[in-house]
Formats: sequence, C-alpha cells, structure tokens
Amino acid sequence: MDTLHRFLFDRAPVRGALVRLDASWRDLLARRASVSDGGHAFAPPLRALLGEMAAAGVLMQANLKFNGALVLQLQGDGPVKLAVVETQPDFSYRATAKVVGAVADDAGLAALVNLHGRGRCAITLDPRDRLPGQQPYQGVVPLHGDRREPLQRLSEVLEHYMLQSEQVDTRLVLAANDERAAGLLLQRLPSVGGGHVAGRPDAAFARSADEDQIGRHEDFNRLALLAATLSADELLGLDAEVLLRRLFWQEPLRLLGDANAAPARPRFVCRCTRERVAGMLRSLGQQEIDGLIAERGEAEVGCDFCGAVYRFDRVDAAALFSAGPPPPAEPRQMH
Ligand SMILES: [Zn+2]
Repeated sequence: MDTLHRFLFDRAPVRGALVRLDASWRDLLARRASVSDGGHAFAPPLRALLGEMAAAGVLMQANLKFNGALVLQLQGDGPVKLAVVETQPDFSYRATAKVVGAVADDAGLAALVNLHGRGRCAITLDPRDRLPGQQPYQGVVPLHGDRREPLQRLSEVLEHYMLQSEQVDTRLVLAANDERAAGLLLQRLPSVGGGHVAGRPDAAFARSADEDQIGRHEDFNRLALLAATLSADELLGLDAEVLLRRLFWQEPLRLLGDANAAPARPRFVCRCTRERVAGMLRSLGQQEIDGLIAERGEAEVGCDFCGAVYRFDRVDAAALFSAGPPPPAEPRQMH
C-alpha cells in the first residue's frame, strides 16, 4: 500500500517522515514499459534511481508544506541526461528520464548521471499561486562532496541540498526496487527564529543563525545513527509502524495527524492534458505543424511521464491556429 507517515520525537527536537510507494510505483513502471513510441522499460539501475528520487520527492514535499509543485531533477553528463520527479502538495507524483546510450547493469549514481563530474541536482519549488512574471524558486547542488569526491548516493546529494537551503541537519535513507520505493527522512527542528518558515519558500534559501549547530546536535546525531543502520530490505519490506518501533524502540515518537487519510496518500498522477499539448504544438508554429501533418498524416505527441498519446489530424491542426471554434470539415465533392 502507498503510505506516508509523519512523526515527531517526544524527547528530541527532530521530526521525520516515512514514505512507501507501492502500487503507484509499479503503475509508473508499467506505463513506462508500454510507452508506444518505441520506448522501453528503463534499465534496472535507472529504475532504482528514479524510485529513490520519487520517494525523496514525496518526503521533501511532506517536509516543506509548500503549496506548489516540487520538481527534483538530476541533469546528467552520463547516459542519463535527465531524470525528473514532480510531486504535488497532495503527494501525487510522476517521473521520467531521458537516456542516450546504454546503461550498465551495475551503474551507480556517478556512472548514470555524473560520468565526467558535471552532473548536478536541481530542486525547483513552483508555487501554485505564482504571480505573472514571478519565477519559481530553484536551488542547485553538484553531485560531488566538499573535496570534489563524486557522491555515490542520491541521499547524500539531497542532504547536502537541505543543509544549504534550510541550514538544518537532515538525514535521508532511500531504497527502491521494481516493487517498491521507500524513504525515511529525519530533520532537526530549526530553533525559534531560524530555518524554514512554512508557506514561505524563499525563507528556505535564507541564511540563519541556526547553522552554528549543524552536526553538533546530540539528539539529532543519535537518531541519525540509528537511521543509518536501516537496511534497504527493512526499509522496503517492513510495515511502517513496525519499522519505526524497531528502529527507534528507545525513542518515543508520535505519528502526526491522519497522514494516511485518502487525500494524503501518495499516488501516481500525470498532469498532461490535450490542451497543454495543443499549446505546445501552437508554440511550434503553423508551418511546422502543417509540414508534419503533410508528411505523416497527423501530429502525434506522446507523454514521457504516463505514455498517453495525443493525435492531431488536419482538422485538429486547423483549429489550433484559428482564433474561434474549430472550423467545420471541408465540404466534400458530391458525385
Ligand atoms: Zn502524461
């Protein structure tokens, strides 16, 4: 079952979230495998990476309480040029990737997206109520550590990002296979007056006095060490409440709210629509579209996220470029 649990420790200023993507994750992989444009299933290491990204995207969305889309992107210089996960405030999500060339079966993060050290990770917060002209907030971190060593885990990259953007300690444990994607996030609560302010995404990028405490907080370090003992099998296999009880059996914690009431359940939802595709075609210009239709009989656009295919024939195309309603079909010659 797809679940998201949020919790607070009673005796430590630390909050957490635990996500498991289950049927939604299998749905996403199955759709990808059936994409009609000659597309095929992603290679296993890329499936694992995308699963970790999806789990991380939901965790970050849950942690930020931000009213808008959170887009997590890896821009790669290896065979994977782009891997992207988008999560919404209701924890619906979608994911896709662009691959050029072969992916080795044992490829890790660096071999997938950081072959020449130029890969990067971008996190974009796009407010739902964005004013015209207002830009989304974006933070970018490299895929290497402070001594330029390539990072081997997505969790390390994202911890680095959270440290930069929120100035509080964060620990992430992520795992994914073809059945499930799961993640655990622990974050020290910022002291009063510092760190992230809910609903103010710009605050997430402001510096704060709280950074003095980074890495020095005993309570957080103790819990983070416990989190680090979690194996991928446990994270993917154990029921959420059992996992939390076993991992933190000496650390009383409280589950928050009805995190698993139906509306808050993570699920796969694609936001593509025929109208958006029409807008994209319109932006290409009439000449381009007419040329395409003359050549192939129709313009066909497949959605990389969900595999939906949108077809525009000559009549549809004419409607795209007319200001009014679609023109009537051409009168036919009567014999
Ligand atoms: Zn779609």
